[in-house]
Order: sequence, then C-alpha cells, then structure tokens
Amino acid sequence: MKIVMCASEVVPFAKTGGLADVVGALPFELREQNQEVIIVLPKYKGIDEKRFKIERLKDDIFCSTLGKNIKVYFIENNVYFNRDGLYGDKLGDYKDNLDRFSYYCRRTLELLKEINFKADIIHVHDWQASLIPVYLKALYSDDLFYKNTKTILTIHNIGYQGLFPKEEFPKLGLPWNLFNIEGIEFYDKINILKGGMIFSDIINTVSSTYSKEIQTKEFGFGLEGVLNFRRDSVFGILNGLDYSIWNPAEDKFIAKNYSLEAIQDKAKCKEDLQRYCKLPESKDVPLFGIVSRLAEQKGFDILSEAIDEICRMGVELVILGTGDLKYHLIMEEMVKKYPKVISLHLKFDDTLAHKIYAGSDVFVMPSRYEPCGLGQLISFKYGTLPLVFKTGGLADTVNDDNGFIFDDYSKDALIKTFKKAVTFFKKEKKWAGLVAQALNLDFSWKESARKYIELYAKALSK
Ligand code: ADP
Repeated sequence: MKIVMCASEVVPFAKTGGLADVVGALPFELREQNQEVIIVLPKYKGIDEKRFKIERLKDDIFCSTLGKNIKVYFIENNVYFNRDGLYGDKLGDYKDNLDRFSYYCRRTLELLKEINFKADIIHVHDWQASLIPVYLKALYSDDLFYKNTKTILTIHNIGYQGLFPKEEFPKLGLPWNLFNIEGIEFYDKINILKGGMIFSDIINTVSSTYSKEIQTKEFGFGLEGVLNFRRDSVFGILNGLDYSIWNPAEDKFIAKNYSLEAIQDKAKCKEDLQRYCKLPESKDVPLFGIVSRLAEQKGFDILSEAIDEICRMGVELVILGTGDLKYHLIMEEMVKKYPKVISLHLKFDDTLAHKIYAGSDVFVMPSRYEPCGLGQLISFKYGTLPLVFKTGGLADTVNDDNGFIFDDYSKDALIKTFKKAVTFFKKEKKWAGLVAQALNLDFSWKESARKYIELYAKALSK
C-alpha cells in the first residue's frame, strides 16, 4: 500500500508530545512490513536542516529521508511556520492557527499531485491535519488523481479540537453549506476535528478503552454524538513504543545500562538521579518520578491536593514538565516546604526524562483521561512501576501485576495508592516480582503496525 502520514509534529524533527513519538515511529514499522510510506509536515524554524540533511526539492518544498527510504516532505511558508513555537508562544495559541494548518492541509494535497504520489491511504492525525479529508471530499471529489484514496483520522486527544470563530470560515475556502450541524459547525464555531471525523473514511483512536470512552458524554468533549453516529467506523489501536529510543540496555542518557538480567544496575541510575536532583542518596527511600505536562488532564488537580500529604510519606519525588502556571506555583511552594523531598524541573528536557524513567522506582501518571499514554509504556521498559488512574490506555496496559492502579478519581484514592506503593516497596521480593512482570511486557510497534495495516485494508474496502 502507498501511505501518506500527515501530522503537525513528528520525531525527530518537531515534538511537543506523544503525537510526535507516534508519527515518528509508526512509519518505520509499516516500512518493515513492506508498506510504502511518506510523511508530510510543516517546515518549522526549529527543524535542523543540516542535522537531518534536508534539501530543497522545489520552491517551497524540502525533503529528507528517514530509515529505509521513508521520504519526509516539509512545507515551507515563512509567514506561517518560521516561528519558534509549533502552536503558540508565552501569550497562548498563535492567533492565525486556522490559517497555518488549513494552509498545511491544502498544500499537502497539492504536493501529492506534484510528486505524483497516488496514495491508497492518507493517514491524518489530530485537528491540525483534519482538513485533509474535508478538502478531499469537498474540493477534490471529481479529481481522478484521488479517486481511490481513502482517509483515516487518528485522534490522539479529543480535548484538542481546533475551535475557531465562525467569522474565519471564508478563509478555509470551503462552501458555506459545510458550516452546519452535519458539517464542521459546532455551537456556532468552526470545529476542525469534527470536520475530520465526519469526512474521513475511518476514525481511530489510540487505545480500545479510549475509543469507547469518547463515545460518552463524560469523555467526548461534545463530540460524542458525532462518534456515536459513526460508531461502525470507530476503532482503537494502542500505540507502540519505539524501543530504539526507549531501552535501558542501550540508553545513552542514563548512568548505567541495565536489563532484567542485570536489574541490580538500575540502582546506579537511581543514585545518579538523586545526585542530579540534589536529593538524599538513599536506596531505601522509594523514588517517584513524573514526566508530564502540568495539566489537569494529567491528574495535576488531584496531585496538587494530595502533594502535601505525599511529601510526608517518606518518599522522594522528581517532577519534570511544563504546563499551567497554577501548577508551577503550587509545586514551587512544595519545593520550598519540602526541599529534601521534591525536585522540580519546569522545562522540557529529554535527557532528564530518560534519567527519570530509569532512576525512579515508581512512575506517577494519574491522568484524569489518557487516550493511550506513553509514559507508562516507557516506565515498564525501565522496570519502573506505573501508578495510574484507570482510564483509556492506562486501563488497557496497567494492572495490579505490573503497577498500581486506582479507579476512583479523587485525592483520597491517589493518596491511598501512593501508600500502597510505599508499602509494597518495602517487600523486596514482591517488588522484584512486579518489576520482572513489567520488564517482560512488549509494547513494540510491530503488533500495532500490523493492526494499522488491517485498518487501512478495511478503509480501502469501503
Ligand atoms: P501527551 O498527552 O503529553 O502526549 P504522552 O504520555 O502520550 O502524553 O506522551 C508524552 C511524551 O512526552 C512522553 O514521551 C514523555 O516522556 C514526553 N515528555 C512530556 N513532558 C516532557 C518534558 N518536560 N521533558 C521531556 N519529555 C517530556
């Protein structure tokens, strides 16, 4: 099959979250399984042309190659993409995000014709690429080039929908009759993700549980009705993990490489992390790690309420991440109060992230909702037991045999689960058993990519 992968962020070129990891890894495994894949993304200012050997193909199009001949095309537009941020800056989202990503979508469809890539499947991700299926059906329905092309939309987080004022609609170049309840109108606003959900041939999310959750009022963010309407075309495939990046046996960022056979060496990583974070270097104190956006979605509301009590449990806590100012401030207060317990790093830092996954005993991820979650999958691989709320992809991967899971989203349940982890930590044999279970799990992309190929085949048969 000929597949085009369209997303606003892709590892190793541009990343703000899990989406980039997914779109950076899936093509490799699809390629391994004999599919032809290309990737198209905006050419942001931060993408290092030299490092990735990016060359100008023509006018505004640049090209580079990943792995076994996966061509990556970059769309240049100095007005829209030559900026420091992907989606916004300190002041919030860029005001012209509708212009920026609608341009990306339209240019992508033109580009495929220019390079004569007759795709079987265009696989679009999240709202930023969601106009592609809309344009295909609305503007290219008579175009023979796209006659046999099918689209799949993967929703990585339905909380981000690309909402814009109605007044911006003319910029999209779409007929006004699409601005209605069966189209991309949503409470008198433009909802780009909704457009993708209506016009794509198949809708997919990143775990089976999440694909069902988003069809309910509680998790659907207002789009549950649309999903219900299309429920025969809604699927869930768990993300894989790129073990060439996340593997304690080969990780260059950690103090000592280790695997199940030499699990005692994980202690060196803990020591290193404690030293790096200026925390007391004790192996007997359970070390809890967090690598996350500091957002309510990630459980920072209940974590903020519980943190004072957690800090008095005889633990250490390393937090890496950025997010809502409110949570920055709460955590900074806690550091002042418990400097020997919490180490706080309000930044994006890949090296430290690796050190935390390797050096912690428990990885904390009490997300209120979690489409798939990569953190828990990474922590399994590093023999670090995840502590999670039972939702979405966390519910599909974590259980009492490989981590700590609670099913009542509250401060009290979170505290109780921390206490349980602390108690377990003292039972060395039991702990070693859980760690061994976690280390034996396999969430490589192989199986997920196989399922995606099945889904592509399903789309083609529509
Ligand atoms: P999200 O909803 O943010 O995409 P995921 O768990 O799916 O959450 O993926 C988050 C990814 O981003 C993980 O690979 C995690 O390690 C990484 N990450 C998040 N915050 C940071 C940070 N501050 N520094 C380094 N890596 C981070």
